[in-house]
Amino acid sequence: MDIDDLASRIRAGERRALARAITLVESGRADHRAQATALLEALKGHGREALRVGLSGTPGVGKSTFIEAFGLMLTGQGLRVAVLAVDPSSARSGGSILGDKTRMERLSRDPQAFIRPSPSQSQLGGVARRTREAAELCEAAGFDVVLIETVGVGQSETMVAEMSDLFLLLLAPAGGDELQGVKRGIMEMADILLVNKADGDLKTTAIRTCADYAGALRLLRKRPQDPEGFPKALTVSAIEQEGLARAWEEMQSLADWRRAQGHFAGRRAEQARHWFEAEVREGLLARLRREPVRGAMAALGAQVEAGAITPSAAADELLSEYLQLDRGAREE
Ligand code: GDP
Repeated sequence: MDIDDLASRIRAGERRALARAITLVESGRADHRAQATALLEALKGHGREALRVGLSGTPGVGKSTFIEAFGLMLTGQGLRVAVLAVDPSSARSGGSILGDKTRMERLSRDPQAFIRPSPSQSQLGGVARRTREAAELCEAAGFDVVLIETVGVGQSETMVAEMSDLFLLLLAPAGGDELQGVKRGIMEMADILLVNKADGDLKTTAIRTCADYAGALRLLRKRPQDPEGFPKALTVSAIEQEGLARAWEEMQSLADWRRAQGHFAGRRAEQARHWFEAEVREGLLARLRREPVRGAMAALGAQVEAGAITPSAAADELLSEYLQLDRGAREE
């Protein structure tokens, strides 16, 4: 594969080249991995800075309806929109809640939009890397907005927040009891809470729910990366396309403020370091799973069980002999 050619076609915004490159970063094959790494390195610093928006919400809250309506609004303004999905359910069961492209039928036919379902990988860590790299590819291909969608379960929200510039939480209109069902940690990650389905019979409840969340947000500690008034709660109706323009204005004003204050670049730099460290950890774990380390681990494990060597000495031996780390250097 000609990596330079692929890189220049991605930079030219060719969708097929982008799709192919994403398939490459999703591949688990060692040769593909090497090519993906070379490709990302070749694309580094190219293209303009997209706004990466993470979006989470439980199944049924209206994520696909919202993304379709919001995405079409943005493409209508001449912006190019990419949609990526992280679906931990597909990792566990092989079935996907988010993977189905037909969920956003109109947006997927829009030439200004690009939709990529969740890769079905066995490990969330693997999905994280692939999604993050897919986002980088979309950015290099000149997309203005990269939406990264996830369902509100497990670790996937934290992961998506760690690869986004802004993080949105989509919520349903609900009684006061359910408000407490949103974990504090997730509220703290969100920049904007969107109470969806503020239409018809649900409108009054949605407005009340939104006020409840706004109250809960005021109790959170103010974060240095936020201007006055953030994080905030808004009502939207994805079906009636109400409040979407307002939500976009708020997102832009928050992003603009963070850019001006240096928090935008700062967050990206912090994320890059985080992912580097995660890659190192994963790389080490992968080496532990490969021969001859795996065999040595089993053999040393047996010796530890038999009392022939202490656990610490055995670990030291394994790390220094097979991973060529300094003896005793694992203390920190
Ligand atoms: P997802 O599972 O989060 O992607 O949710 P969907 O977008 O598939 O929506 C789940 C259900 O909620 C569907 O029946 C939608 O028609 C409905 N829905 C989505 N957005 C709205 C909205 O703004 N108002 C109302 N009343 N229903 C909505």
